[in-house]
Amino acid sequence: MRPFHLLVFFVLAVVACGVPQGSGTMPEVEGIDFAIAIHGGAGTIDREMNPDLEKAYREALEDALRLGHGLLEQGATSLDVVEQVVRRLEDDELFNAGKGAVFTHEGTNELDAAIMDGATRGCGAVTGVTTVKNPISLARAVMEASPHVFFTGAGAEAFAEKMGLERVEPDYFFTQRRWDSLQRVLEREEDRGSNAEKHGTVGCVALDRSGHLAAATSTGGMTNKRFGRVGDVPVIGAGTYADDQTAAISCTGHGEQFIRNTVASRVSALMEYKGLTLAEAVESVIGDVLQPGDGGLIAVGRDGAIALEFNTEGMYRGAADSSGRFEVAIWE
Ligand code: ASP
Repeated sequence: MRPFHLLVFFVLAVVACGVPQGSGTMPEVEGIDFAIAIHGGAGTIDREMNPDLEKAYREALEDALRLGHGLLEQGATSLDVVEQVVRRLEDDELFNAGKGAVFTHEGTNELDAAIMDGATRGCGAVTGVTTVKNPISLARAVMEASPHVFFTGAGAEAFAEKMGLERVEPDYFFTQRRWDSLQRVLEREEDRGSNAEKHGTVGCVALDRSGHLAAATSTGGMTNKRFGRVGDVPVIGAGTYADDQTAAISCTGHGEQFIRNTVASRVSALMEYKGLTLAEAVESVIGDVLQPGDGGLIAVGRDGAIALEFNTEGMYRGAADSSGRFEVAIWE
């Protein structure tokens, strides 16, 4: 080999050895200090929506996003931010979570929520809660004040009582709009489609100034659910996941599909084991693993990259970061 060829060989060898093998994402964005994304559910969202209702949705999304952005800017932890933002969305009856939750077949409201801390992979989840005003805070209490990760029904409520969380009468969750949806669905009981009337969820993912990620998701589940049906939202790895090495992910859609395909942790695994970027991982899961119409997800990568992806007609969503990005959207 001539000296020049040797040099080229040497340079190529050094470059090849320096390429990380499946060690996570390459940076997609530069210089992002903090980032946040939110969602308010995905599905068949009518493009002919009443303009006042559309305005109300956009304002509610902006309001929640502004809250989260402001907290991150002031240096709040991603864990505090995702909890506070999801509480705000739970309190807004436009969304299927907390106040505004959909009804079960029996005409009750059974709420699910989960939260995950990317720094420790600590997590907490609750399902089938009927008297806790903000299930996301109960999920956080499960994570921080118990040695467990998942509480159900009456036990979860007893724990809420012990933790001093705000309780409400079950009829606090009554809203005429969701009640009417149940009546319509009951009239056409055979209806199994994925649509806005039956679905919805709220979620938030964030990267804070210390480089920590967190995810939180909360839902009333599916209109007309019965037999104690639980969706993906409180199932860690299905609807909710966060790992500081990869991303924080919160999902919405046809929960059974998200459980079958462990969607949230699959995004993280594709980044960790295959070295995909956040955008590539999310696209592969939403486009190739799930079926059209199944739903969507929001995600923030450890470098501040944001993904908002869905295979339904729309997804109520918003994204903001330290570069000045601030946007909300409903359809494509
Ligand atoms: N994923 C939720 C569930 O299946 C509902 C939704 O996000 O629309 O319970």
